[in-house]
Amino acid sequence: DLNTRVKVKTADEIGTLGQAINDLARELKRYQETRSELFANISHELRTPVTYLEGYANILKEGLYQSEEEKEQYLEIIKQESTRLSRLINDLFELSKMEEGKMTLNQEWIDMREMIETILPRVELQAKKKGLQLKVDIQDNLPLINVDGLRMEQIVTNLLDNALRYTDHGWVGIRIERARSGDLMISIEDSGKGIPEDELPYIFERFYRVEKSRSRDFGGTGLGLAIVKQLVDMQGGTISVFSEVGKGTRFQILFPANQNRDGREEQ
Ligand code: ADP
Repeated sequence: DLNTRVKVKTADEIGTLGQAINDLARELKRYQETRSELFANISHELRTPVTYLEGYANILKEGLYQSEEEKEQYLEIIKQESTRLSRLINDLFELSKMEEGKMTLNQEWIDMREMIETILPRVELQAKKKGLQLKVDIQDNLPLINVDGLRMEQIVTNLLDNALRYTDHGWVGIRIERARSGDLMISIEDSGKGIPEDELPYIFERFYRVEKSRSRDFGGTGLGLAIVKQLVDMQGGTISVFSEVGKGTRFQILFPANQNRDGREEQ
């Protein structure tokens, strides 16, 4: 009978079991809610560019424009929205692969100075275009870290792109040093608009944006920081953010460094 099958003997145990089932049901409900909220978000995010594409394609098809210049503008919007759509699809695919644990990492001992030097020319150009100063401060004799080089590049590039996008005056910077704990510390900083304190806890969530329209204007998908956080976590690092509205933002990443691998000579 049921009693022997589930091996419930006392009222106490039945109470505990009931509690466990309640907890489970609550958790399941929460999970379902998050899931449907996520799907609602995804649909909304996909629908917006598609609406633009349909609308402007129609205008062009019906010849509803006054000049060649106007036609060019509409074609440009179509191009931008297609790019956004394909970026969105790529980002969603990446995130779902990571969340299902299906992303493989090629971890090796990496010298972050070498990695940064390969991406600097592009960042320098972007900063110059916006009239921003690029500050680079990389300590000598950095410890190596055991990470996937391409994924690290993605993390740093993503944070630097954000720093550049959300800063109108001043500078953006990258600093790499050995923290007092011995870990490798990567900081990506800017003198930009900053993030309000009460919004800081949410910015790593999918599709969370401080200013929706502003992010859209800059081609943002709202998934960049969610991907960055997943990538950092997967490789055993931690990421935190410090920000002050009107002053700027600093993203700080810590990676455990092998204490015995002090310099490259010992490799
Ligand atoms: P998005 O594609 O919208 O930039 P992200 O996930 O990269 O999405 O960032 C989430 C939100 O966090 C952004 O919409 C923006 O409001 C805020 N944010 C990210 N980086 C910065 C920064 N360096 N300065 C100010 N706000 C930032």
